[in-house]
Amino acid sequence: MTSRVLFADIDNTVTFYRPGSLSPERLLHGNFLFPILQQHLHYAGYSMQESSSLIQEEITRNVFWSYSSLIESLNLPSEKVFAEFRQWHRDNILVHQDAVAFIHQAMAKCIPVYFISNNPVDGCSMKLACAGLCTEAGTPLPGIAGIFGTDVMKGCKDRADCWRQAISTANLSPQQIVTFGDNVQEDGEIPLAFGVFHSIIIPRAPLPAIDLSPQITIFQEPIDSLFSWFFS
Ligand SMILES: [Mg+2]
Repeated sequence: MTSRVLFADIDNTVTFYRPGSLSPERLLHGNFLFPILQQHLHYAGYSMQESSSLIQEEITRNVFWSYSSLIESLNLPSEKVFAEFRQWHRDNILVHQDAVAFIHQAMAKCIPVYFISNNPVDGCSMKLACAGLCTEAGTPLPGIAGIFGTDVMKGCKDRADCWRQAISTANLSPQQIVTFGDNVQEDGEIPLAFGVFHSIIIPRAPLPAIDLSPQITIFQEPIDSLFSWFFS
């Protein structure tokens, strides 16, 4: 029997944003935490416009940035900034308990769980902390074998290259992997085309009217039946 692992998505699978939290006036360069960086640069003596430009320059220079790399490059006080980042998450990140229950059941069955997400790893950890899957300090629960974010994959998971990078970093073969997420393309068809074993899709919105691959199962209660894919 092949030992299988779970590769779970985060956004819209485990967590989601409080309605209104991503409204355009609350974002900077499309990001919900950059206004906090901008404010801290302003405290350090830059105008709000200069602060915005400094952040823009930094994310252009370092495309695969993490929050900690930005804080360091911008010479900001890490502890204070992260405390505000975490507060933003507590205020604005909501949790899908059905997905959390599924992940806990996987861990209880000793199935290694990885997360793969279009956030930098430290952004993933802050979201997972809201779901009780990481500590406040960002340490994953035992049973979570790894977190693949944009800074380690060097891109987003809509590209097969990123799946290749994540899977080889984890020293796994694609056939060991069952994916779990809300997006038929990114969490299903793309990793399946790359050779993963099976995908479990948890629809958070009506699914596109297309024929799904036979290797895609739609998440359903009772959760227990979903584990057949891991032990076949
Ligand atoms: Mg998602």
